[in-house]
Amino acid sequence: MKAAAPRHTGLPFVPQPASDELLGSWLLRVAQLYGLGLTTLLSRLGARPSGDAHVPHWFVIGGVSISLDALSSASCLSRVELAAMAPPSCRPRWPEELGAGERCLAAATDAGQPITWKRSWMNPLATVCSIHGTWLTPVATRTLAAIHHAGDFGGAVQEVAAEQALLDCEHTCAGDALWLQALCCAGTDVRLPWGRTRPNDLTRIVDRVACAVMSASNSDSACVPSTNRRALGIKDFAFELTTGQRAATSLPTRLRQRQWVLGRVAHVLRWAPEARTFHSGGSAASVERLASMRDWPKGALAWVCPIAAELVRRQEELQREFSISPRYFKAYSALLSSIQ
Ligand SMILES: [Zn+2]
Repeated sequence: MKAAAPRHTGLPFVPQPASDELLGSWLLRVAQLYGLGLTTLLSRLGARPSGDAHVPHWFVIGGVSISLDALSSASCLSRVELAAMAPPSCRPRWPEELGAGERCLAAATDAGQPITWKRSWMNPLATVCSIHGTWLTPVATRTLAAIHHAGDFGGAVQEVAAEQALLDCEHTCAGDALWLQALCCAGTDVRLPWGRTRPNDLTRIVDRVACAVMSASNSDSACVPSTNRRALGIKDFAFELTTGQRAATSLPTRLRQRQWVLGRVAHVLRWAPEARTFHSGGSAASVERLASMRDWPKGALAWVCPIAAELVRRQEELQREFSISPRYFKAYSALLSSIQ
């Protein structure tokens, strides 16, 4: 008969989690302190899942993969605190690259503090460091998977100065991206230029505007930086906004490309059409796609794309005049070709 793992009554010393630290980052630091591997630490604390289920990669560890109750009694941190450090889930897979704040990592090193990994870097919509306001540096998800010790965090950030310069000379602005990121991560209703917007509506709008930005970048190579000329590796990501709220978007799997796309999306959502530094109208096809977004909050479409809002208005006029008759379809296609 196999005895249940005894419940650990408490570690003699537990490092305090840093602000916004990811659960797996803190666990790696605890494991390092006791000279153990992560799996061994979790086994000794009785926090491993029952049966032979393997411990997942450190950066995805959360309440589903380990026992937060056992961890709580061993660490004297509350279950709620521990659960808040768990990463958001991302399905069906993580992006190929996530971001990390190089200056945050350097600042910890300079101050002689332990290097920690932030929970906020685990969101596919995270593009900018909220502390320093600078673009996050790409870190391949497989590089994260290869980390087994807290001491390896510093080496995980790739040297990408050349690509950084490309982003800086683009119209894309880290300030705009940071503004949008804060709204997307708020998890509550937020105020946008057209009015109050629910979190789910905001991600739907971001997703559709990103789609328009990406299709414009495919058709007009002059506006695309050279790193983006190769096909954008666009993937679907469904992730948690807040507990119980899920959002789905299609975005590039590489961070630099996500930053480029979301920077442009942020610019469109933040600034009135006449104040924008690039033409965001796109092709007739993308205007038509935007015009089909009738369930957006009132005023959002007119802000994002006045031509699409005008198209909706005139289409409704035609419908009132001709109902759904052959004359309507003829008049509508004439209207569409007039916006080419
Ligand atoms: Zn930073």
